[in-house]
Amino acid sequence: MAYRASAQIQPQCKDELALALFVVLQLDMLFVILDFAAPKRPTFGNVPYGVGISHCSVTGKVALTFDDGPYIYTTELLDLLKQNNVRASFFVVGNNAGKGRINDPSSGYAPIIQRMIADGHQVGSHTWSHQDLNAATREQRRAQIIHNEIALNSILGVIPTYFRPPYTRCAGECLDDLKSWGYHVVNYDIDTRDWQDGGVKAKSTYQTILSEHSAASSAWISLAHDVEDFTVHHFAQFMIDTARRLGYELVPVGTCLGDPPENWYRDPITGQARDVANVAIPLPSKEQPKSSSTSTSSSQTTSLRGSTSTSSQISSIVTVKTSTSETQTVAPKPCS
Ligand SMILES: [Zn+2]
Repeated sequence: MAYRASAQIQPQCKDELALALFVVLQLDMLFVILDFAAPKRPTFGNVPYGVGISHCSVTGKVALTFDDGPYIYTTELLDLLKQNNVRASFFVVGNNAGKGRINDPSSGYAPIIQRMIADGHQVGSHTWSHQDLNAATREQRRAQIIHNEIALNSILGVIPTYFRPPYTRCAGECLDDLKSWGYHVVNYDIDTRDWQDGGVKAKSTYQTILSEHSAASSAWISLAHDVEDFTVHHFAQFMIDTARRLGYELVPVGTCLGDPPENWYRDPITGQARDVANVAIPLPSKEQPKSSSTSTSSSQTTSLRGSTSTSSQISSIVTVKTSTSETQTVAPKPCS
């Protein structure tokens, strides 16, 4: 069928057909192309690369981190954090356990991730589909990172520099890879195990560690999950109240590590540090047809935190590539 179709193509359309065929290459091929085209990732700031980080460096702080989302409870958690004037960190998974892709307009997750930024939280990567990266090949690791980068960039216009490995498993070659790809690997020193037995021990675990140390001389990175009903509807408020009662300040994990917000993300093209506050964000829109053409002329952008930018060429570029990788059947109109 393909040969018969190509035989009917007008000569002047061959170039466009070639372009269309290129665009409809399979998802993984596009990621490979993007990866090869990607610039080297410079490191910046004082937070180390190539090691697993488990402890805050600024005393008196507690970094509440939430993994595996966004999910159906995340909006409620964002409401709660806002009511309490707390900024936290979210390590986002692209698509896990059938929750739907974060960059699929029908999933509704993109505006939630954008709200994380708008509310002052930090967004990091937690892989595309929650694979064990120690058990993965380098190519599989790369795919896990790049898939999530493309999705997050299409949502935020930047790539995070903070990463949390699923199952806390990233050592040796994995750490080397994450360094070369420009990520801080951030673990935790309070494992609340909020996912276990409905969080029956989570409160005591968290409270015991904080109360046995002084806020004047200690700081903590706490792990919980916004995919847990218990965490969003009970535990989060407990963690906030307990930390404050014991004299701790609740901050994003970057702040807990003494890293200014402008180092938390990088430009996907140049690789340089990029303050997300100055990035024009592609508006999440359920109206955008999933099988639309490659045109981005009508793409809208908005600022999440007082942006002064009027447009984002970078995010537009990656938005095109992302949407292409999702659903595309590109049909150039003049030569269909
Ligand atoms: Zn996880």
